[in-house]
Amino acid sequence: MKDTVLTILNECHNNCTLIAVSKTKSADIIKEVYDIGIKDFGENKVQELLTKIPLLPSDIRWHMIGHLQTNKVKDIIDKVYLIHSVDSIKLANVINKEALKKNINVNILIEINIANEESKYGFKVNELEEAVTEIRCLSNLNLLGFMCVAPYQENSEDNRVYFKKMKELKDKYKLEVLSMGMSNDYKIALEEGSNYIRVGTLIFGERNYNK
Ligand SMILES: *Cc1c(COP(=O)(O)O)cnc(C)c1O
Repeated sequence: MKDTVLTILNECHNNCTLIAVSKTKSADIIKEVYDIGIKDFGENKVQELLTKIPLLPSDIRWHMIGHLQTNKVKDIIDKVYLIHSVDSIKLANVINKEALKKNINVNILIEINIANEESKYGFKVNELEEAVTEIRCLSNLNLLGFMCVAPYQENSEDNRVYFKKMKELKDKYKLEVLSMGMSNDYKIALEEGSNYIRVGTLIFGERNYNK
């Protein structure tokens, strides 16, 4: 595990952050990765996140990377460093409303359904202009950039075209953060300008959802 983490860190250039995606993994195992020097962890379920946070060091930066239901927003917005998965205007509005109540600012990314997949969340590219404009008007949100979950491909090269498109969009809107690349395709994502890679399986091994 340690060798894998160090190898990935080595491939990450200066201004790229490795997020260890720890969903389904226990606090003990997360602590092992933390002790190697990783401070950024990604989770996709609110309840799982809330259970793990008190069990782990307080300097961890937690990233919400999964679809977020509006009724759970208030439970996590003051506990996570960045929400990657803002996939509707409605969700953005709820985050803003709850942030106002708590008098905080919340860092967010807009999720883009870059390959136009039926099964995926996120804004279509042709909806982006309107989404960015509306979200930029929300007082307590910091829009830092874009995120995508690229299709699963036998050949990760096939995602290069989507990563290139993501980079173009990030530049067009003059944003800082591009969250893309997972175990299968993070190397391609890095070559195309990703600065947040989200790697789970490669670090922690296969996930067991039956436990
Ligand atoms: C699970 C997950 C990952 C990590 O996927 P791996 O293939 O295990 O590296 C990255 N991003 C999101 C949004 C995820 O849900």
